Amino acid sequence: MAPDAPADIVLTGGTVYTVDAARPRAGAIAARAGRIVAVGNERDIKGHIGPRTRVVDLTGRMVVPGFQDAHVHPVHGGLNQLRCELRGARGREGYLELIAAYATAHPDRPWIVGGGWYMDDFPRGTPLREDLDAIVPDRPVYLTNRDGHGAWVNSRALAIAGVDASTADPPDGRIERDADGRPSGTLHDGAATLVELHVPPATAEELVEALRIGQRYLHSLGITAWQDAIVEDDQFGAYTTLAARGELTARVVGALWWERSRGDEQIEELIERRTRGRIGRFSPTSVKIMQDGVLETFTGAMIEPYLDGNGGSSGNRGLSFVDPARLPGYVTRLDAEGFQVHFHAIGDRAVREALDALEAARNAHGLTDGRHHIAHIQVVHPDDLPRFAGLGVVANAQPYWACHEGQMDTLTIPFLGPERTTWQYPFKSLLKSGARLAMGSDWSVSTPNPLLEIEVAVTRVADITRDAPPFLPAERLDLAEAVEALTMGSAYVNHLDAETGSIEAGKAADLVVLDRDLFAPDAGPIGDARCLMTLVEGVPVFEDPGLDG
Ligand SMILES: [Zn+2]
Repeated sequence: MAPDAPADIVLTGGTVYTVDAARPRAGAIAARAGRIVAVGNERDIKGHIGPRTRVVDLTGRMVVPGFQDAHVHPVHGGLNQLRCELRGARGREGYLELIAAYATAHPDRPWIVGGGWYMDDFPRGTPLREDLDAIVPDRPVYLTNRDGHGAWVNSRALAIAGVDASTADPPDGRIERDADGRPSGTLHDGAATLVELHVPPATAEELVEALRIGQRYLHSLGITAWQDAIVEDDQFGAYTTLAARGELTARVVGALWWERSRGDEQIEELIERRTRGRIGRFSPTSVKIMQDGVLETFTGAMIEPYLDGNGGSSGNRGLSFVDPARLPGYVTRLDAEGFQVHFHAIGDRAVREALDALEAARNAHGLTDGRHHIAHIQVVHPDDLPRFAGLGVVANAQPYWACHEGQMDTLTIPFLGPERTTWQYPFKSLLKSGARLAMGSDWSVSTPNPLLEIEVAVTRVADITRDAPPFLPAERLDLAEAVEALTMGSAYVNHLDAETGSIEAGKAADLVVLDRDLFAPDAGPIGDARCLMTLVEGVPVFEDPGLDG
C-alpha cells in the first residue's frame, strides 16, 4: 500500500477531542487499514479523500476515543435479557407482575431465573419468599438483586437446595430468617450460592448469544474495549468461541476468577487458561480477587464496625473473603507470573488489605508492569489515599454509584456514620494524590452508558435523581478528567494504551461519534448525549440511523 493511498474513512466537520495533550482538539480524522493516518483540520484531511473513501460529515458533532469499561459483566448483562429481567420495573408489585408474566410465558422452564430488583424497594432490603410462592408455587424461583450480591428465592428453591432452619450461615454469607429461624426468602452472598448451585446452568449456546447481545449493546453506547471483571468457565467459553469465530469485535481483557475456597494451587490452572484463551481480541491476562462483599448487607470489610442504625456500634466489621494473612502470598505469586490483579474492594479494610498485598508483591520483587487495580473503592481510609500513587495501583472507579439515591441514603449512610460517609468514592482526592484513575460501570449492576457515568463523575448527581443535592461535591471531577479516565485511564489498565485510548496518528481507529460537543456551554446534561457511531479499527460496529440526519 502506498503511503499516500486514500483513507477508508474520513470524519470531518466537527470537533475531535483527542485525549492527547500534544493536540487536544482537531476538526477531522482520516483512517486507513484500521489505523488513524491523520488528525488535523478539514484542509489537512482533504488530501486523504479518494473515490472510495467514506466521508462522514460530523455537522458540528464530537468525536472522542472509543470508551473502555474497566469493570463490566457483558455475558451476565446479555443473559439477563434472555431471562426474567426485572430492570424494567420498580417496587414489589411491579416485580411480581413481571415474574408472573414471565412464568406464564415460559411454562417449560424448570426454574424461573433472573434478577435486577432494588434492595431499597423492600423493607430492610429483604424481600420474602411468600410473595413468590403466591405466584409461582410449583417451580423454584431464583432472582438476584441489582448488585448480584443477594438473591430472592421461593420456598420450592429453598427446599430443592435443602436450606432450612437448621442450615448454618456459610462463612461468606448470611441467610435472612423469620422469628422462628426459618429462611425468609433473601440470601446474601455465599448463602445465595447454596441455592444457585442447583440452578440449571445456561447452555454454551445461550452464553455465546448472551455475549453477542452484551457486545452489541456496549458498542451502541460507544464502548470499544472492556475488562470483563469475572471470567469463570461460562464466560471463558463464550469469549473463546466468539473470538475464534472472528465475531468478537471489542477488545477484551478477561479477569479470570480467583476461587476463594482454594489457594495458590489454582495458579497453574490460571496460567494454562491464559495461554489457551488468547484468541483474536480476547486476552485473559488479569485475575479477579473479590476481597469483600457490599456495605448494604454488611459484608463489606470495614476497619471499624458498622453502626447499628441508631448511632451505636453493631460490633460487625464485615467479611474478608480471602484470608488477609494469605493474600500477600497469592498476590506476590500472581504478580511474579505476569498476571494483573483486579481487586473488588468496597470497605476500607478490604481496600487496605488489597494495598497491603500489592505492597508485599512490590517489596518481594520490585515494580512489574502488572498495572494492578482496585475496583469499587467505596470507602477509602484517608491514610490509604496516597498509597495508590505510591504503589502504582490504579483506582478503578464506578462513578455512577457516587450520588444520593435510596441505597446510599437508607442502607449505607446510617450504618457508616458521618465521618466514614465522607470517605466514599474519593475520586478527586485520588487524582490529586497522583493516582491513575480508570472507570467502569459494573453493568449489569448499573447502566453501562459511559455518558451517564461521566455525568455523575462531574456532578455527583445521577440522572434518576437530578434534583438531589450533589454527593460530596469536593470529589467532583472535571469533564476532561472523567473523559480521560474512561478512555486512556481504562486503556492503561487494559494494557491497550499504546494502541488505543486517544486519537493520534498511528493508533487504532477506535472512535465514537457523539451527538454533541460535551464541552459546549449549551451541551445540557451529559447523560442526555447519545452515541451515533462506534468504530473499531475504522469499521463501524454501531451506527445510528440519525447519523446522517
Ligand atoms: Zn462487578
